[in-house]
Amino acid sequence: MSSSGTTHHGTGRDQLWSVDEHLDDILATVRPLEPIELQLLDAQGCVLIEDVTVPVSLPPFDNSSMDGYAVRVADVAGASEEFPAVLTVIGDVAAGQGEQPTVGPGEAARIMTGAPLPPGAEAVVPVEWTDGGLGEGPASGMRAHSAAPEGASGEVRVHRPAEARAHVRARGSDVRAGDRALTAGTVLGAPQIALLAAIGRGTVKVRPRPRVVVMSTGSELIQPGEELADGQIYDSNSFALTAAARDAGAIAYRVGAVTDDAEVLRSTIEDQLIRADLLVTTGGVSVGAYDVVKEALDSIGDPDDEEGLGAGGGVEFRKLAMQPGKPQGFGTIGPDHTPLLALPGNPVSSYVSFEIFVRPAVRALMGLPDVHRPTARARIAADKALTSPSGRRQFLRGRYDADAGTVTPVGGSGSHLVAALAHADALIVVPEGSTSVEPGTEVDVVLLG
Ligand code: AMP
Ligand code: MG
Repeated sequence: MSSSGTTHHGTGRDQLWSVDEHLDDILATVRPLEPIELQLLDAQGCVLIEDVTVPVSLPPFDNSSMDGYAVRVADVAGASEEFPAVLTVIGDVAAGQGEQPTVGPGEAARIMTGAPLPPGAEAVVPVEWTDGGLGEGPASGMRAHSAAPEGASGEVRVHRPAEARAHVRARGSDVRAGDRALTAGTVLGAPQIALLAAIGRGTVKVRPRPRVVVMSTGSELIQPGEELADGQIYDSNSFALTAAARDAGAIAYRVGAVTDDAEVLRSTIEDQLIRADLLVTTGGVSVGAYDVVKEALDSIGDPDDEEGLGAGGGVEFRKLAMQPGKPQGFGTIGPDHTPLLALPGNPVSSYVSFEIFVRPAVRALMGLPDVHRPTARARIAADKALTSPSGRRQFLRGRYDADAGTVTPVGGSGSHLVAALAHADALIVVPEGSTSVEPGTEVDVVLLG
């Protein structure tokens, strides 16, 4: 923890940490996960940590790019509509067929896209340049898809000449054996996975997706689908943050609401540590009588953290110069120094905190080069000025219009306004120094994607 070395926020208990200081502390603590070998599809979105070399050239053999006839160039030289070359069809070559007929002078083999160019043949004439073998023979014509060499016979009339190698994809024309297919550091999207599969790689070495356990706290919380009793509310945070964790690239586990009991919470956290690369809690971090997260963490601690026990264990609780999201906890717990972020309970606060602090942590664990959401500059589209608390960085919910270059606030600043959050696609960033933002003012917006 770098808290003791940071001077900007002072040392007193009630000093405010800036958003950047808190984020810097998190990113300085969170280390990328150790690489593992994963099946291709499990590696989607992950960072490759090996250079991948092509073992066999692609395509592995010369093959046809068209359905047509494999021919010898001399046999079709000068062919025209009026004077077609008439060739004897000696058989079929289909994709995946091992053995091929040899094309001799005056002969052609019917060939399908992707099939190997048979010996003797020098070019492929597309079926459109021929009579499709319809003129003669019982089984000619491209409608039949028999793979058997005896499936085609008779004659084909070719109306146009072909140059050597016409409609032939050369062996190695895509990549050659020994070429570098992908370099370490590449993020594996669908096209990169396509290449890995095409060169025959079944598994790759990547940094894995972090396993993120999301745990909500609050005795008032019940699960969606249940009947609401007096004083109860539905647990939305654990759903929102599990979805957000997945969206950030994590394998997310949702642990439904834990009651406000430090002992229950402590044992739940300890149970979850086994499957967590990162723990996220919501609620119970303000100064209310039932804010039990600190108390629960006191008794877990981080065995290697000298300040580990007492006052939240390895987790430090801070007040941030931020709205929403003022109370935040961060630190490491348990034998593996698992990072834990304790977020405030209000739904908008927890979501905004996730976007600003947890998402970058998840992406840092994955070793991704870019841990932050993209941002844009946009002018505020509103009827009246927005007010913002002095000395705090405010994150308002907004709708971003890229074409107009504007962002329109949705809902107010209340951190309980889930419906407005659901209509937002951006966070409007009002800097610490601003207490009033006039319509038309240009601001930073975080694009939620
Ligand atoms: P707390 O920080 O635990 O005092 O919670 C602050 C506010 O957020 C209270 O109104 C809680 O009822 C509400 N809240 C806390 N956790 C959740 C949750 N998981 N889902 C929805 N609302 C919550
Ligand atoms: Mg609570």
